[in-house]
Amino acid sequence: MKKKANPGRSMLRHVLVVSIALNVSFILRIMLYETHQHQQQTHHHHQSSFSLSSSSSSSSSTRTTRRRSSSSIVVNSTRDEDHLHSPDKDRLINLDHGDPRMYERYWRKRGEKASITIPGWQSMSYFSEGEKICWFMESELAEEVVRLHNLVGNAVTQGRHIVVGTGSSQLFLAALYALSPTTHQQPPITVLSALPYYSSYPSMTDYQKSGLYKWGGDAESYDGEKDGPYIELVTSPNNPDGYTRESVVKNKTHGFFIHDLAYYWPQYTPISYPSDHDLSLFTLSKSTGHAATRIGWALVKDPAVAKKMTKFIELNTIGVSKDSQLRAAKILKAVSDSSEEEEFFKYSYEVMSQRWKQLREAVQGNALFTLPNFSPGFCTFFNRQTHPQPAFLWLKCEGEIEDCASFLRQHKILSRSGERFGVSPKYVRISMVDTHENFMEFIERLSSIHL
Ligand code: PMP
Repeated sequence: MKKKANPGRSMLRHVLVVSIALNVSFILRIMLYETHQHQQQTHHHHQSSFSLSSSSSSSSSTRTTRRRSSSSIVVNSTRDEDHLHSPDKDRLINLDHGDPRMYERYWRKRGEKASITIPGWQSMSYFSEGEKICWFMESELAEEVVRLHNLVGNAVTQGRHIVVGTGSSQLFLAALYALSPTTHQQPPITVLSALPYYSSYPSMTDYQKSGLYKWGGDAESYDGEKDGPYIELVTSPNNPDGYTRESVVKNKTHGFFIHDLAYYWPQYTPISYPSDHDLSLFTLSKSTGHAATRIGWALVKDPAVAKKMTKFIELNTIGVSKDSQLRAAKILKAVSDSSEEEEFFKYSYEVMSQRWKQLREAVQGNALFTLPNFSPGFCTFFNRQTHPQPAFLWLKCEGEIEDCASFLRQHKILSRSGERFGVSPKYVRISMVDTHENFMEFIERLSSIHL
């Protein structure tokens, strides 16, 4: 006799099957989560257990761990993020941007000392405390900026107003606005910079087609007397070529100057004197490597100019993120507070020094490429002679190669053409501050390129 189907029992069986499936999936998820946690702990342990010992550095042992003798922080080693991007010969290495990735290892090691927590109720107002021209600037940040400049000796801060910006990019625009003629009856003021100039200057100046200012190109061919009022951008050390610069316009009577000192820090160039200009720009992006925090600051002599720059930022973004300002203050404090062996500039100087050494070794005797040559100078911060070791390599392709960027692209190296900086495509700019992995891959590829 055929068994009669029991709907109640069939339903029970369904419920059982679904319940077992759910349990298995739940257990699997827990197992996966625990594995992940374990990996993270191992990773963390690996991070915080590197030692003090030193070892030699040569480009032939590119994938080995390198340590510096004078610091407890390892300069280059096979890093965690590097594991994620295991070297792939066909991969395009993007060294077009100057994305400061090489400092991450240092900041990971500094841990809590450079971290902040902001409770939900804190820093909610548009306004900041204290009497200052830049009404949205957090006092903590202003204090740390002054403290760091005094420690490094790279800028006079006395008699200066500090204006904070969303990166020095916003401050650049604020400065153009503040230095431009006040009435629309006057023609736009000409904005200049000596060749090769930072590739963003022309587009940043002209993208809004402002009636106040306009891009005028090369400062060297400009005569202030004949050609009228101007703003000269003096970038020192210069992006892209790394050389130290001064104003070059002839007959400076009607000129204003913006000194872009993004790279005037001891890891890139000898600090020979405290800069003492009417208007200079600095940025967290290139000093400590926190590009994403988007904090820059201007040191401004004339209170009327500082007021106009503040007004620009008020009209543009009603101030600058306080969260970012607080983070920037904490980072700068961590730099100033650091003990001798965890000194940020010692560390970053060492990384740059190794990279430039490896780079010079890689192209030595190769007639295809020419690198810039820099004279050493006395650095008041390190109290000894140091060599410039810029954040960018300004490379020239020799001989038949007319378009250096295209040539390097064939070798899967992405660089920025000299044309973007107002000069010949025989030149390219290459970032020297990218991840260890990318930099080493670049060195390997560059040393394998021959005629
Ligand atoms: N000036 C120069 C010379 C730069 O190289 C850069 C960044 N590439 C900037 C300004 C902009 O920096 P920030 O990230 O502070 O906007």
